This record gives sequence, structure tokens and C-alpha cells, in this order.
Amino acid sequence: MRYARQVLLDGWDVSAQVRLKASTAIIVGAGGLGCPASETLARAGVGHIHLIDDDTIEMSNLQRQTLFTASNVGQNKAETASEVLNQINPLIEVSYSMQRLDAQSMDDLSDLIAQKRHESLVPHSADHSTILLLDCTDNFAIRQLLNEISVVERLPLLSASAIAMTGQLALYEPYKNTGCYYCVFGEILTNKSVEQNCANSGVLASTTTVMGNMQANLALQYLGLGHNPLSGQLLNWDGKHMSQHNLRFKRDYSCKVCAGQIG
Ligand SMILES: [Zn+2]
Repeated sequence: MRYARQVLLDGWDVSAQVRLKASTAIIVGAGGLGCPASETLARAGVGHIHLIDDDTIEMSNLQRQTLFTASNVGQNKAETASEVLNQINPLIEVSYSMQRLDAQSMDDLSDLIAQKRHESLVPHSADHSTILLLDCTDNFAIRQLLNEISVVERLPLLSASAIAMTGQLALYEPYKNTGCYYCVFGEILTNKSVEQNCANSGVLASTTTVMGNMQANLALQYLGLGHNPLSGQLLNWDGKHMSQHNLRFKRDYSCKVCAGQIG
């Protein structure tokens, strides 16, 4: 009953729903993007959602971080979001880590990935991973760590960003020779220009909700059907003019992250 409207969809059937149930979404960042993305994935029936965030909820977050209320200020984001997701859909497994993703906690993430691969009823393959990494952070250092995990573990990385009234979205599958996050953004990252984020540039309440749900839209298609309609493309959304365009990117064969790992 819970998923009846979804199973009715053209191109979506019980087997797609079963694949969702067998899937794990590892979501780094339970803020402006992580709240709407995780909520939609929980409602849609993704079997296991794991949230990672060491941040606490502040009053200035409530404008856009849709899983939190004023009574949650001061609480940890990953823990509070997990409780809400559990209430929204008690049929799925929700877990969380209150650790910041860094070199040390990356080992814990690798353990979780190994455990999920071992448990999965649907075999893990390069063509269709049952584990999806979601980058919902606004921090370049954490993004780069996640990209390294994606390359080393051969997992797809669904990366979204939102700032002011604009957003970007890409689903990197580096093991398919289509490039990684660093192939696209490496030069910008090495230039070390001032990092733009919501705290220093502002963001409209709707921008993160739109981008978080675009991320969920792509995650559901990938996990349920194995589709990546953005293969080799970076989607750019402009909320001011209500327009969208996709840029094509290619693998950088001298990329310092994926060149040594993927032949
Ligand atoms: Zn690369």
C-alpha cells in the first residue's frame, strides 16, 4: 500500500521497488540538501539510509533544513534527522554517524560499505551498484574525501550543490571511464579560491529543496532502474531565470585521484 502509486508508474514495477529495498544510500551532510534528499528516499522505500554529519542544528538552519523544527536547535543533525526518517517510514533501516568525515572516520565508512556488499541480496556489480554515495555537503575537503572513496571503492557518487539561487548536480561513475569529481573540479580546487557556501553567500530557502529533490530523483532512477540520465554531464540549475542546462565533461587521464586507480 505504501508504495502503490510508485509501482503504478510507467517503467517502474515491483522489481524496481525490490531493488530500492535492497539499496543503501550513504548521505554525507544532513543539512539543506541532505534533509529533502533523505526524506524523499525514505518515503520512496530505499532500504537503508545512513546519514553522516557532526554538525548541530542552529536557528539559521531552519529556513531550509526541512527535517528540523525550532525545538531541535542544539541537537545533532544526523541523529535528529534519523529519528524523523524512522517516523516517516518505519519499514526502512536508518543509521547515522555523528563523526565528521575525515581520514580516520573514512575507515568506518569503508567497513560499512564492505558489510553492505556482504549482506546485499542483489549482487553488487559495476553496472548497477546497490550502494550510492550522496554528497550533500558544502565543504570542498569532505567532497574530495568522498570522491576518493567513490574511486577506490568503485561506487557511484551523486553530488549536488546549492548556493544563492543556483545549483549543480552530477552522478559520477569513475569506474566506467567517465571521469570523477576531481576530473571536473580539480583545477578550481587547486586554485584555492575563496570557498563559497551558504554561510558566506546566502541561499534562498527553495534552492536547497529543489536541488536535494533533484538529487533524490536521480538516486531513485539509479537505485531502482540502474539509469544514469546524467552520464558524463553536469546539470546547472538557475532558479532566478528558471532555466537549466547540462555541460558535458570527459575523464581527465592525468587526474590525480582516478588516473592511478582506474586503468
Ligand atoms: Zn578523476
